[in-house]
Amino acid sequence: MDDLQYGTRDKRGNWVPHRRAEPVPIWHRPFNAKKVLAWIPEFLWPWNAFHMATAIIWVNLLIPSWESLATFSLLNYLWLFGLNAVGIFLFYGFFEVRYYIQRKQENRFKYNPKFPSDAPSDVFWFQSQNIDNFTRSFFITIPLWSLVEIVMLWAYANSWAVWLPWTTNWLYLSFLVIIAPALHEIYFFFLHRAIHWPPLYKWVHSVHHNSINPSPWSSLSMHPVEGFLYHAEAWLHLLIPSNPVCAYFTLHGAGFGAVNGHLGFETFELTDKVKLDSHSYVHYLHHKYFEVNYGGDGLVPLDMLFGTWHDGSKEADEAMKARFRKKKEKLRAKQEAPDGRASDMPAE
Ligand SMILES: [Zn+2]
Ligand SMILES: [Zn+2]
Repeated sequence: MDDLQYGTRDKRGNWVPHRRAEPVPIWHRPFNAKKVLAWIPEFLWPWNAFHMATAIIWVNLLIPSWESLATFSLLNYLWLFGLNAVGIFLFYGFFEVRYYIQRKQENRFKYNPKFPSDAPSDVFWFQSQNIDNFTRSFFITIPLWSLVEIVMLWAYANSWAVWLPWTTNWLYLSFLVIIAPALHEIYFFFLHRAIHWPPLYKWVHSVHHNSINPSPWSSLSMHPVEGFLYHAEAWLHLLIPSNPVCAYFTLHGAGFGAVNGHLGFETFELTDKVKLDSHSYVHYLHHKYFEVNYGGDGLVPLDMLFGTWHDGSKEADEAMKARFRKKKEKLRAKQEAPDGRASDMPAE
C-alpha cells in the first residue's frame, strides 16, 4: 500500500494523515443519522468487541471460583496477574513483534519514521525504551491492575456490590456496556488532566511521557500512582448496580485498550487489502506535544470543550503555539511580579 495516498511525509520523515482527527459523528452538527449509522460498526469492531470478548472469557472461564475469591489469597492474585501478563504479552507482543521487530510494514503509515530501538536514550532504564517500558509494564503496572481486579472480585464475591443478572437486566446492562467507552474517556480525561498539573507531572506522569515516540510497550509504562488510578476506573462498577462482565469490560478497555494511542502507526496492513485502523493519532499527538489531546480520540470531545484539541492540521498547530505563547507570557508576568504588584510599578 502507498501511504502517500493517505497522507504526506515532511522533510524529517514524519507522516501526517490527510484526514483530520475529528470527534465521532454523534457530535457533528448538523446531525447526520447516516454518518452515525456508518460509524457504529467502527465503534464496535474490532477493538471494543475484543475487550468484550476477553471480559466474557475471563469471567466465565479463567478467574478462580467465586467462593475462593471471597477471601484474599496470594495464589489467586498470582493467577490473575499471570493471566493479565500473558494476555498483554500476547496482545501487545503481536504488534511489537510484527511491526517493530520484524518491521513487516517498514515505516509505511508510521507517524514517526524512527523506531525506538534505534534511538538509545539516558531517560530510560538501560538506555532502552523497550526494556524500560516492558519492565515498568510487567513489574509495576500489571501487578497494580491485578490488585484493582482482585479487590473488585472480592467485593462481588462478598455481595458488597450490586450484581445484576443478565437474564433479568439485559437492557440496562447492555446500555452500561455501550456507554462504558464514553465513561472511560471522561474518567481518563480528568485523571490525565490532573496528572499534567506541574507538581504531579514531575512526580508521576513524566514517567509515561519519557516515550515521545511511543510503541506498544509504552502503553502501560507508568508511575505506580498512575498505573493504579488508571485501572481503578473499574471500581466505578462497584458503586452502581452492574455485573462482573461490565466491570471487566471497563478494566480491559483500560488495560488492553491502552495500546490504542501507542501503536505508532495510523494503519496496519493485515493483508494486501485488509487494513486495521489503530486509533492512535490523537494520543500520538499528545506524546509529541504534551499539552494537547488529554482525552481519547473524540468519542467524548472534552478536549474541544476545554480548548486543547489538536486534529493534526497546521491550523491546530498555530492555535496550540498561540496558547503556549500566552501561557509563557502569563508565567513570565507572574515571575516578574511575585507579590502581584510589581508589574504595576512604573519602569525606572
Ligand atoms: Zn500515552
Ligand atoms: Zn500525558
